[in-house]
Amino acid sequence: MQTSDVVIIGGGVIGCSIAYHLAKRGIPAHVIERDDIAMGSSGACDKAVLLQSKNPGIHLELALKSVKMFPELQKELDTDIEFLNHGGMIAIQNEKQWQVMEGFVERQRKVGLDVRLVDKDQARALQPAFSGDIIGSTYSPMDCEANPIYLSLGLYRGAKKLGAKFSLRTEAKSIKLEKGRVKSAVTDSGEILCKYLVNATGAYAQFIGRMVGLKIPIVPRRGQIIVTEPVAPLLRGDINCARYITAKFRPELLGTDEMAKLGVGLSLAQTVNGNILIGGTREFVGFNKGTTHRALKAILKHATSIVPALKDIHIIRSFSGLRPYTPDGLPILGEVPEVPGFIMAAGHEGDGIALSAITGRIIADVIADGKPADDLNIDMSKLSLERFKEVDVDEFWQSHNCYGYAL
Ligand SMILES: Cc1cc2nc3c(=O)[nH]c(=O)nc-3n(C[C@H](O)[C@H](O)[C@H](O)COP(=O)(O)OP(=O)(O)OC[C@H]3O[C@@H](n4cnc5c(N)ncnc54)[C@H](O)[C@@H]3O)c2cc1C
Repeated sequence: MQTSDVVIIGGGVIGCSIAYHLAKRGIPAHVIERDDIAMGSSGACDKAVLLQSKNPGIHLELALKSVKMFPELQKELDTDIEFLNHGGMIAIQNEKQWQVMEGFVERQRKVGLDVRLVDKDQARALQPAFSGDIIGSTYSPMDCEANPIYLSLGLYRGAKKLGAKFSLRTEAKSIKLEKGRVKSAVTDSGEILCKYLVNATGAYAQFIGRMVGLKIPIVPRRGQIIVTEPVAPLLRGDINCARYITAKFRPELLGTDEMAKLGVGLSLAQTVNGNILIGGTREFVGFNKGTTHRALKAILKHATSIVPALKDIHIIRSFSGLRPYTPDGLPILGEVPEVPGFIMAAGHEGDGIALSAITGRIIADVIADGKPADDLNIDMSKLSLERFKEVDVDEFWQSHNCYGYAL
């Protein structure tokens, strides 16, 4: 039987970041991944390390702290994570959206984000690809980007170099407890004794929770993305639209048309190689990772209304990924008091790439010192599983189309 102080289930960006931050503190974890690094949502997403898409409050505070850590990571890791600070814009298409974004921007500024509203001419000067039909935009010079696959691989290689162990193509099958405390992880290739077990399985976190009798309110929220052929630089930084913000936080306000049903909101970015990623949807369709003609059509119709030049660029493929969604849109982080040794690190919805750095640091601190360092100033009660004690989790799974799935 193997032994490791810490077993992490999940080799996505979150599991790799935790392994890296623990290894930096001299705690080499053992990561169990049933597939390969970044084969879950971390390899099926956009590349935004965004601040503007975060709700003012702890959400934005976490993102501000996380984004500050990226330049250091870029230097520390052997892999080029393609971290860029090219700013970001949220396109506004009508007066109603302008009013909503005015309030959102004002609240974000109070938390310390450098963001402002710009009129149509200023927006088109900053982003010449914008359609003449937009009425304005937001702009933040603080938004960033990174390659999510290289980031995950960089953290994986960094952790390994510092002593972490990775068992790929190895599935966690059950968890043994002793007097209520985590004792070991049982995988399809043996048992690993451990003091702490970290659940970093993203959209699949509910299944790991069930292994220790916990009901975890995390469900998959599918996002479909289109990829174009590589083209000469067309876009400057990240682009979203006001609908994206509504689809993310208040989808019920989108209405009842086809676009609303699919949760369509624009996400647009150009990779270092020149490919353009055009997104996306927000759908509750269980663990189905397919793409649909209906959604791809709606995404393109909307995207070309904001950046018309996309009409002349060829599409080469499409894919979808599952955002791990919680009832309040925030991740669930920290040790679960009912099961000592069981640590949650999942539920980052559309923000896991941006929040990966701070999540790794928080969980490493929790394991090494029992709580995040004082200088991080994080109120863990806002991120705990206990904050959902009034939520009927069975109903939550059911109403989001993912009840009754077997492990
Ligand atoms: C379309 C789309 C666009 C997005 N765009 C952005 C963006 O621009 N910026 C941003 O910050 N975020 C974005 N996100 C969100 C981001 O991708 C996720 O929040 C993040 O990848 C979650 O990482 P994770 O490590 O928690 O999960 P995952 O990457 O899914 O990793 C979980 C891993 O656990 C493994 N696993 C599950 N069960 C077991 C088991 N029993 N045993 C062993 N292994 C197991 C899985 O195989 C998987 O590899 C986007 C997501 C989507 C879907």
